[in-house]
Amino acid sequence: MTDALIIGAGPAGLMAADMLSSAGHSVVVAEAKPSVARKLLMAGKSGLNLTKDEPFEAFLSHYHEAAPSLRPMLEAFGPKEITTWAEGLGQDMFTGSSGRVFPKVMKASPLLRAWLIHLSEQGVEIRTRWRWTGGSYRFDTPDGPQEITPKVCVLACGGASWARLGSDGAWADWLNTSTAPFQPANMGFEVNWSPHMARHFGTPIKNVTLTAGGSSVRAEFVISARGLEGGGIYAVSRPMRDGAPLTLDLLPDMSLEDIRARLSRPKGKMSRANFLRKALKLTPEKQALLMEFGQPLPEDLAPLLKALPVTHVGPRPMDEAISTAGGLRLDALDQNLMLKDTPGTFAAGEMLDWEAPTGGYLLTACLATGRWAGLGAANWLSRNT
Ligand SMILES: Cc1cc2nc3c(=O)[nH]c(=O)nc-3n(C[C@H](O)[C@H](O)[C@H](O)COP(=O)(O)OP(=O)(O)OC[C@H]3O[C@@H](n4cnc5c(N)ncnc54)[C@H](O)[C@@H]3O)c2cc1C
Repeated sequence: MTDALIIGAGPAGLMAADMLSSAGHSVVVAEAKPSVARKLLMAGKSGLNLTKDEPFEAFLSHYHEAAPSLRPMLEAFGPKEITTWAEGLGQDMFTGSSGRVFPKVMKASPLLRAWLIHLSEQGVEIRTRWRWTGGSYRFDTPDGPQEITPKVCVLACGGASWARLGSDGAWADWLNTSTAPFQPANMGFEVNWSPHMARHFGTPIKNVTLTAGGSSVRAEFVISARGLEGGGIYAVSRPMRDGAPLTLDLLPDMSLEDIRARLSRPKGKMSRANFLRKALKLTPEKQALLMEFGQPLPEDLAPLLKALPVTHVGPRPMDEAISTAGGLRLDALDQNLMLKDTPGTFAAGEMLDWEAPTGGYLLTACLATGRWAGLGAANWLSRNT
């Protein structure tokens, strides 16, 4: 009999396995996919933003209502500790100008490779193509149905987006523990574009301020065939998901008065497009957004340029979202992340009901909760066996 079973080999599950095995316990990790940590590897494709270097209270505030519950876990294993941990696995790290922390190689694969070697040296056994099908603890495996009876279990099955990478949220149907419905987080929004927008698909819109529901962020986003995507949109996606309208300040470096003064200059024979480009340095794609969302154009364009209301038809499907909100309710877990109704079963990572923006907050909380659940499970083992 194995001491500890971890279900899900993403960053949360691997961290729990690390803690339990370093405490001397035998650990089996069951992973549904043919290989481990596919979402972590995908995250590395666009630059693995592991964490964020900023004052702790500012960092914590990004977890919104889950911040009080996550505080002890993030205090114990927050941005500084995660950076040190990655360096311990041979990664040279760097902090970008916005405080985002990355491995210098940007990819996740060297970090993951070193971590898997470390786990193997600690005796962790990883069984891939072992898909948990519910109960305690039945699996579909290449050798047919199997059951494991561990002394403790850590669930780390992820959220409910990018199902092809493994986290399909199916577990929510077979757990008795109370769950909050999944919702997309850090997602794009669908726009029914008029045909003339097609030539701008794939174009980044740089240097804009996006405002929704009292949150404002100066960032960039991308016009895509499906709608609006990218970091700036993800940053305001939570209030937008909750119904807040989105407005764009297309010229955040100019005041209303400055814009008005520039627009009052003689236009001569210039076309409107040329005039806006010359007077305001308004790029063609920003002009296209103005025409798309600003009709009928008022006489005084300045207020519209400072707060252009964006019309969209709602979030893109949840499976495309970077992360999900919802999952196991934090009040259904004790302070060690053990399910109150299932003693000996712990949970960690994105399957818990918290959400945060992109920028390193997601992986930080997955690693911190994985560590916390692993330590909690190790303590539980030493008290109960
Ligand atoms: C494109 C993209 C880019 C991202 N970039 C970043 C970034 O730069 N920084 C950041 O902080 N975050 C980023 N994220 C988010 C981050 O990758 C996730 O929040 C994180 O991987 C979640 O970790 P986890 O261990 O909780 O779950 P996951 O990584 O989803 O792992 C869960 C594992 O459980 C397995 N599993 C699920 N169900 C079962 C079952 N029934 N039986 C057995 N195994 C099962 C899955 O196959 C999977 O391997 C990104 C996400 C995406 C999609």
